[in-house]
Amino acid sequence: MTKLHQFDVVVVGAGGAGLMAALYASRTAKTAVISKLYPTRSHTGTAQGGIGAALGNLEEDHPEWHTYDTVKGSDYLGDQDAIEFMCYEAPQAIIELEHMGLPFDRTPDGRISQRPFGGHTNNVTGKPVRRACHAADRTGHMILQTLYQQCLKNQVTFFDEFQVLDLILVNGRTAGVVAVELATGEFHTFHAKAVIFATGGHGRIFEVTSNAYSYTGDGAAIVLRRGLPLEDMEFFQFHPTGIYKLGILITEGVRGEGGVLINGLGERFMSKYAPTVKDLASRDVISRAIYTEIREGRGVNGQNYVWLDVRPESVNQYAAMDGRTNPDGSPYTVTGEQILTKLPDIIDFCRVYLGVDPLTEMMPVQPTAHYTMGGIPTNKYGEVVIDEKNTVLPGLYAAGECACVSVHGANRLGTNSLLDLVVFGKHAGLKAAEFAKHADFEALPAHPEEEVRAQLEALRNGSGRENAFEIGREMRKVMFEEVGIYRNERGMRFAIEKIHELKERYKHIRVRDTGRIFNTELLNAWELGNLLDVAEVVAESALNRTESRGGHSREDYPDRDDQNWLKHTLIWKRNGHTEISYKPVVITKYPPKERVY
Ligand SMILES: Cc1cc2nc3c(=O)[nH]c(=O)nc-3n(C[C@H](O)[C@H](O)[C@H](O)COP(=O)(O)OP(=O)(O)OC[C@H]3O[C@@H](n4cnc5c(N)ncnc54)[C@H](O)[C@@H]3O)c2cc1C
Repeated sequence: MTKLHQFDVVVVGAGGAGLMAALYASRTAKTAVISKLYPTRSHTGTAQGGIGAALGNLEEDHPEWHTYDTVKGSDYLGDQDAIEFMCYEAPQAIIELEHMGLPFDRTPDGRISQRPFGGHTNNVTGKPVRRACHAADRTGHMILQTLYQQCLKNQVTFFDEFQVLDLILVNGRTAGVVAVELATGEFHTFHAKAVIFATGGHGRIFEVTSNAYSYTGDGAAIVLRRGLPLEDMEFFQFHPTGIYKLGILITEGVRGEGGVLINGLGERFMSKYAPTVKDLASRDVISRAIYTEIREGRGVNGQNYVWLDVRPESVNQYAAMDGRTNPDGSPYTVTGEQILTKLPDIIDFCRVYLGVDPLTEMMPVQPTAHYTMGGIPTNKYGEVVIDEKNTVLPGLYAAGECACVSVHGANRLGTNSLLDLVVFGKHAGLKAAEFAKHADFEALPAHPEEEVRAQLEALRNGSGRENAFEIGREMRKVMFEEVGIYRNERGMRFAIEKIHELKERYKHIRVRDTGRIFNTELLNAWELGNLLDVAEVVAESALNRTESRGGHSREDYPDRDDQNWLKHTLIWKRNGHTEISYKPVVITKYPPKERVY
């Protein structure tokens, strides 16, 4: 038996994108949010550094500069119409969050404070511009809390700790989703006119990652299984500064406040790789630089890490060398107290997890798998599109990290994801509600839960010859090593074979917990199936793209190749095989240029 619910709009996911979508949909439509986590535990809550908008509160800035930086940062793979839309909506979106009560940090005269972030520049001078609005280093936490309060106020219905396992499509239209209630193990069918996926990313395919344990690509895998394509899955962002071995993120805000990267020889190596913006170059550039330093033996003590130095005396010394100034033209300096106020959580993480005090010691860092640029293809209204011609699937929407609009192209700029959630979450919500107003409910199939019931039964009744933990470990290792920061054909072929082997072995795992209540072992095993499916399409898409662009860096094809590869990948899973096709990039104002660092 399954329980049946009916809503106009069902949002899957309660992170920034899901809550923003729900907030807007609920203004005119009966709306539910289903979330496998309690909403405020969503990964959005861990976002530290800031949300980008050309408010120009501290110095001259324009949405047009933001647009250009984002296009350039995307290595020209982002769709320029969508990027422009996002960057021009940004200032208004920030003011709206402020009016909802988000406690942004302030300038002395009371305006929203902004800090520099990698890749965000003054387009005239090429120097970093202060564009990231922030609430200390807890910006995402504040966004999530603020939106959750607003949703409660708007009477959105929440199904917390319900995990969606399937999407119901009838006659090529959306009819709802099937979920399992974690507390009881019962299936629930949500009959809906419109469904919005906002399920976040899939960084858990990699060994070292900044992503939450819940980042298992559920939305992407479900969509793939339902015969829909995923876009640009080869593009995954490695953030340069994860805590060594743990992967926990050290925000770029640290470098925004003046922190610098130092190799094992004590050199500030970014001057070599990006002479103008140095430690504030794009993430892909810095990750590769760190990796190169390590590979060429300049890691600290021959290990796989370098230093991040935010000790006040170092910051002041490097700022003086760079001629960095405050907005009033005076030399830029910081005190330990100021660093502590601006980066309290980072200081805390390092003290707790490493026993290192960043005010007096350097932090050991290495690149960490951070952000999924690819995902469920959508247009700029959040409508899911399913082919090369951008045909819309009626009633299906996606927003946030699980979606590919595509505003981030081959590489996302810091602070642009939170912005993406707010802008495209809002429009997905509005569009879904508008669609629901005119659409009828599709008739549900007789037993919508049948397939997922069979999936879970298989996990309970496998031979038990194989061990899920071991399969997960091997997947994460091969993905990090062979489909990570640097890639080549031999390595990726090896990874794909390995994933195929792991998928076979996965059929033989058996979940030991036979209970129904909070059977997390069972759901983790189901999530592993998603990760394997997603890992496969990431590796296949990456192998097919014989060029280097943004986060996709091939040793065997080191150059960007606009002639052949200025296009988006679409990948399907059909009859057990992957199929790949391509669609053009939307270019409006900015023809591709070579990247200069
Ligand atoms: C450590 C860290 C720091 C970051 N810092 C920044 C930053 O400073 N600035 C910036 O712009 N970006 C930052 N990012 C990126 C940004 O925070 C994320 O991309 C963004 O928050 C993702 O939001 P989302 O709404 O798409 O997903 P999430 O916030 O992850 O929410 C996903 C939701 O989906 C639900 N869900 C998933 N699967 C299911 C399922 N099967 N059934 C039901 N519910 C499901 C989860 O319960 C959750 O509620 C950071 C990311 C990380 C990891």
